Amino acid sequence: METALSRRNFFKFMLAVGAVSFGPVSLHAKVTKLAVKYQQKSTTGKKCKDCAHFLPKTNECKLVDGKINPEGWCTVYLNKNIKKG
Ligand code: SF4
Repeated sequence: METALSRRNFFKFMLAVGAVSFGPVSLHAKVTKLAVKYQQKSTTGKKCKDCAHFLPKTNECKLVDGKINPEGWCTVYLNKNIKKG
């Protein structure tokens, strides 16, 4: 279930990146919070502070634009503690 959800979220993210890359913004632009349904305070039990994309020193995200709350969450969340197998 987690794998299927993560795969779906990955494709959502790739669609968002695709939309950005064909627009007037550079390929290195991040996606908007709206595009990934960012929540300032997570209601899912999953949190940005546990996400592989979170940058704790600056409270930023590698993928999502703007300041990020460690207690937040979005649809491209990736648990940093999941081991690849
Ligand atoms: S859940 Fe992860 S990808 Fe989403 S905003 Fe938080 S740190 Fe970024």
